Amino acid sequence: MELLIDRYQRRINYLRVSVTDRCNLRCIYCMPPEGIKPLGHEDILRFEEIEEIVRYSIDWGIDKVRITGGEPLVRKGVVYLVEILANLKGVEDLSMTTNGILLRDYVRDLKNAGLQRINISLDSLDANKFHRITKVGRLSLVLDGIEEALKRGLEPVKINVVVMKGINDDEVLDFAKMSLDRPLHIRFIEYMPFCDRKGAKLIAKTQKSSFEFVPTSIIRERLRELGELIPAEVRGAGPAKSFRFEKSLGTIGFITPMSEHFCATCNRLRLTADGKLYPCLFSDYGIDIKTLLRTGAGYREIKELFEEALKNKPEKHFIKGNDQVMSKIGG
Ligand code: SAM
Ligand code: SF4
Repeated sequence: MELLIDRYQRRINYLRVSVTDRCNLRCIYCMPPEGIKPLGHEDILRFEEIEEIVRYSIDWGIDKVRITGGEPLVRKGVVYLVEILANLKGVEDLSMTTNGILLRDYVRDLKNAGLQRINISLDSLDANKFHRITKVGRLSLVLDGIEEALKRGLEPVKINVVVMKGINDDEVLDFAKMSLDRPLHIRFIEYMPFCDRKGAKLIAKTQKSSFEFVPTSIIRERLRELGELIPAEVRGAGPAKSFRFEKSLGTIGFITPMSEHFCATCNRLRLTADGKLYPCLFSDYGIDIKTLLRTGAGYREIKELFEEALKNKPEKHFIKGNDQVMSKIGG
């Protein structure tokens, strides 16, 4: 087995697969209010193409796969894709990131298909504010999805909270409290300002509002009210630093792309819905796998493209302009 090791001796074993660029929400930090021009049907990787890429990459040491988007649950037949990937020998960890809007009715099938665990994005516990942040979302649907995920044993259930100054930072205590008596893993993520190539904040610009990230140190300070944070272990915690309160059933995680980047331990590549391989969330360009695949390329040629991605994986990111939005590159 030839492992994927980049120029900085980081071993890559994690592939994030975006299955669609479409989304049923318009989160203020992720998408312009009018949405983005969707990819055409033909431009999207077919399930058997995703399967082929993942199958090859297992041979090079990928053993962890996350299905993401856009919103993965709006991709027709996504449960079938879960089943395909879950049945690939070598995929040890199969997870999904979703906004939870459609989740309740999918949980049972996802679990039966072999999904192991789930991350649900939720930025406010206040129905009105949730609607303002997502433009169109109903909070109760996400809460129902979370309950169902707990009930059906998708384990662990993580809640991703992007913290923005003046928008939802007043809710960090309420979110943290959710971890006290439920096995919920709350992860506070520093908002990342995506910029265009000229450096203007891409999304904030279109929202006619500006918001800023809240450093994790400030969030931690606020959480002291609930007690001391003790280091904890959570499956698949990735770059999150995890803690719990003394008697809590769940945990608290901090993801700090802004105040303390975690590039030195980055183990991931990203495959976009239109079949481009991105070495880093902030890479200028993705390596086109789809075109080659559709012209009959196989194991060896695809391996070369993975190697090219490794060569282009930067030592660390500088949150800089690449004209990308998260929903397109797959958060
Ligand atoms: N639609 C799904 C969801 O929202 O969970 C999956 C895709 S979304 C792009 C993946 C994650 O990226 C979400 O947890 C979202 O909150 C996060 N995200 C999107 N834009 C972000 C930004 N500018 N800064 C930090 N996190 C962001
Ligand atoms: Fe959609 Fe997820 Fe982006 Fe929100 S964060 S707009 S749910 S892709």
